[in-house]
Amino acid sequence: MKKQNYLKRFIPYYKPHLKLFIIDMVCAFIISVFNLVYPYITKEIINTYVPQKMLYFMLAGLGALLALYVIKAVLNYVLQYWGHLVGVRMQADMRSELFRHLQKLPFSYFDENKTGVIMSRMTNDLFQISELAHHGPEDVFLSVITIIGAFIVLLTINVYLALIVFACVPVIVVCAVVLRKRMKKVSAEVRVAQGEINADIESAVSGIRVSRAYGAEAHECEKFEKGNAEFVRAKSGQYKVMGQFFSSMNFFMDFLYFAVLLAGGLFFYYNKINAGEFTAFVLYITTLISPIRTLVSIYEQIQDGMTGFKRFCDIMDAKPEKENANALNPDILRGEIVFDNVTFGYGSDEGRKVISGFSMKIPAGKTIALVGPSGGGKTTICHLIPRFYEVDSGTITVDGYPIKDLNRGVLRKNIGIVQQDVFLFNGTIRENIAYGDFSASEEQIIEAAKKANIHDYIMGLPDGYDTNVGERGVKLSGGQKQRVSIARAFLKNPPVLILDEATSALDNATEMLIQDALAHLSEGRTTLVVAHRLSTVKNADEIIVVTPEGIAERGTHEQLIAQNGMYKELYEYQFKNL
Ligand code: ADP
Ligand code: MG
Repeated sequence: MKKQNYLKRFIPYYKPHLKLFIIDMVCAFIISVFNLVYPYITKEIINTYVPQKMLYFMLAGLGALLALYVIKAVLNYVLQYWGHLVGVRMQADMRSELFRHLQKLPFSYFDENKTGVIMSRMTNDLFQISELAHHGPEDVFLSVITIIGAFIVLLTINVYLALIVFACVPVIVVCAVVLRKRMKKVSAEVRVAQGEINADIESAVSGIRVSRAYGAEAHECEKFEKGNAEFVRAKSGQYKVMGQFFSSMNFFMDFLYFAVLLAGGLFFYYNKINAGEFTAFVLYITTLISPIRTLVSIYEQIQDGMTGFKRFCDIMDAKPEKENANALNPDILRGEIVFDNVTFGYGSDEGRKVISGFSMKIPAGKTIALVGPSGGGKTTICHLIPRFYEVDSGTITVDGYPIKDLNRGVLRKNIGIVQQDVFLFNGTIRENIAYGDFSASEEQIIEAAKKANIHDYIMGLPDGYDTNVGERGVKLSGGQKQRVSIARAFLKNPPVLILDEATSALDNATEMLIQDALAHLSEGRTTLVVAHRLSTVKNADEIIVVTPEGIAERGTHEQLIAQNGMYKELYEYQFKNL
């Protein structure tokens, strides 16, 4: 990955804002020309008008100067306001591109990447990029024009003196290049530390109820302090290099001034230049130094912006769920599901297969139950059906279509999932139920809520369906959240239903209430149910006992009891504990 590549990727983002950007650049150009005119006028006033007492010329010169200042003020306003506008619009473009891309990334991406780090990419990094986007070209352009202009003027005043100044410039450049490499490394470290801090905060705030319950505030603070200290370490590394950078740059600039005074003084002494030329020279050196300073100071910005842009590209380069161009879009699926010799392992631990050679068939409208010890791979099997992860080998078909040939949207529209931990979005109850079908009418939403046994509860709330559920639904109980998610599934009305330990987290009384709704929900649908309370799976058409070693037993409840194996043991154990 060469820097060149990133630049090539960066430039197209200017395109939609080209007009503003050009206006911005034109302003920058005019300002830099003005910068070159001031010393000229000043020189004329000091050298000619004042000594020769040319009052009107002097006043005219000053008037011109004042006019330039006023125009420059206006131009600076445009530059500040519109320049930033270009930056912020580009930032918004990138952010929505990133957001849309995130919506398409596979589950495995989110298994590996922390929310806080992603957030830091979306806010911090993009901000830095937008700062670079306009200050970068603007300042570079303005400075380069001023520097070139000043050099040309210097050359016309005295070639030798100008060459002495030229000679100092390569030294500055070499020094900048050397420190540049170090700067790059430390600024990447800072970015990582910043991302970690954000991830820590995200995790600590969303887990605050758990840490309070465990009295773990001190532990959390300690953990946070570690990340915070790491941030200070990384940042102090950055400031150290920055300190070296700025102090040496400043020294060189001061030295430039010194060199000109010395050389100019000697030239004057030996009558190579006159007083007027000497004055002009010193004035132009000042003009020259300020853009060099600007270039040096936007250096950090360029570093930060480029690092941010690389991270942006990293996310954009993460492979989205790829959609087959010839994907099938069958109208309605009946819901017959077949696993044929399926093997799958999570990418994160290469080699270890969670399920291997797994086969099962759920005829349309029938119910199959997965039971067995935790960690056996039941949830994994559930996640393979909507193609949240790709199988390593074997095939999964729905109605005879291999799911990898089906359009993902169509496939997922046909599958309803009710899981143990329900995720509710911050918003109203209505919005959360409507997640099942955004086009649903009010009546349909109420109907779904009724079927899920939650309508009465909702009507008892002061705000009814407009009640806010809080972040992740914290304002509802576990059973209520679960019923909202069941209402969602009713509204979606899919032919295939996956119930993954939907009632496992609930107490017996609540479970009974929900069981009722679930039984109703699974009527007429192909259902895959995972449950650890075996009483709930007794009526399944087939029960499969999944263990980390593979399928231990399969058959109907009666067959498995008769087999006198693992299932019977589990069943009796639970029965005893009732
Ligand atoms: P069950 O639902 O039967 O309790 P799971 O399907 O959740 O089991 O997990 C099966 C195995 O896969 C476990 O060993 C678990 O550690 C592993 N696993 C589950 N989810 C992931 C994931 N996202 N990334 C890596 N490994 C996972
Ligand atoms: Mg599970």
